[in-house]
Amino acid sequence: MKNPFENAMTQLKKAVKIIDLDESVFVLLRQPQQIHEVSIPVKMDNSSLKTFRGYRVQYNNARGPYKGGIRFHPQVDIEEVKALSFWMAIKCAVVNLPYGGGKGGVEVNPQELSESELEKLARGYVEKMYRQLGPDRDIPAPDVYTNPKIMGWMMDEYSQLAGKVAKGSFTGKAVEIGGIKARESATAKGGFILLEKMREDLGKNASEMKVAIQGFGNAGYIFANFAYEAGYQIVGISDSRGAVLSKNSELINPQELFDYKRKKGSIENFCEDYKDKNFIAGSNEDLLTMECDILVPAAIENQITEDNADGVKAEIILELANGPVTPEADDILSKKNITVVPDVLANAGGVTVSYFEWVQNLQNFVWSDEENDERLRSIMIGAYDDVLVCAEKYETNYREACFVLAVERIGEAMKGRGWV
Ligand code: GLU
Repeated sequence: MKNPFENAMTQLKKAVKIIDLDESVFVLLRQPQQIHEVSIPVKMDNSSLKTFRGYRVQYNNARGPYKGGIRFHPQVDIEEVKALSFWMAIKCAVVNLPYGGGKGGVEVNPQELSESELEKLARGYVEKMYRQLGPDRDIPAPDVYTNPKIMGWMMDEYSQLAGKVAKGSFTGKAVEIGGIKARESATAKGGFILLEKMREDLGKNASEMKVAIQGFGNAGYIFANFAYEAGYQIVGISDSRGAVLSKNSELINPQELFDYKRKKGSIENFCEDYKDKNFIAGSNEDLLTMECDILVPAAIENQITEDNADGVKAEIILELANGPVTPEADDILSKKNITVVPDVLANAGGVTVSYFEWVQNLQNFVWSDEENDERLRSIMIGAYDDVLVCAEKYETNYREACFVLAVERIGEAMKGRGWV
């Protein structure tokens, strides 16, 4: 698998060339400001002691405190966390939030832990990282396999150690402890707002557009529901074990598939169990190259590569995952005139609503659901318009335009602070 940090740096270099960026800004953006690596001991239910590797990479804080999720995944490694933290810095600048970028990870398969082991791990992470975190320093949030419950334990642990209730130390919490109802659906919602905007600009009806979604976790499932409810044709959905594809007129109802997944753990055998539906069981590879208008990678990095990019048939790729398309694949997709709406824009709805949560926590004030929704819409559309203008100005694709916009903004902040 390609090193995601190398991919991220290739993306940075491409942008730097377009605008002839100040060399000092480039030098500072080529590496993270701080890397923290800890060993987290957990007393397991059977009384044995196990240790887990935990990371927090604080990439850049020129524009504000570090911000970004914590991932619990067996394949987490430092190169991945570095890449993800860099993308957070870019993402926050693209949507113009007053944040820098950071990311954390723990090398663990959370499905193998009991609830009490998971809680000890979450609290242990905060205990080890305590001095690095805080509402004005570094504010984590959920990411792959972490959720509001874990954020609640982490916020509580931070608060216990700080000797005060610090709700703004973590975002993506449950509503009862300062979270926002719309946070869980925010990543999907932000992407969906962009899809709707592009559809309107193309003058098409939702019912004419076929959508295939790779990944059936929080982002993929909720996005599929938004699209289904709005009348798009859902023609393919996959999870880590396999895909359900519709190659005839019958469309996939994501809720039905989700109910199945909840019972069986995966959608892998759905076609086998529901033969009457005439869906076809396939692989993730089949999904990525299937006939569709919109392809939504919503799983993990490095999914569309130089090996399969040529087979992609979609007109638009909307990246709800972080880093699903490699730079080599980007070049191939560009030549095929496929529009890629990059992760740093397409999935920025999550961190945007995290920002709303943090602002409200700091002020001890609560906005209405409508206000949260309206502000998300206006930030996503505003960022999309900025990216379009930048892409036109420099005659480049959307990813490069996002990077140009972001490094210019980060560079200005560095100048303002006297770093360069
Ligand atoms: N993990 C999410 C992301 O990759 C959200 C980060 C946040 O809310 O801080 O954008």
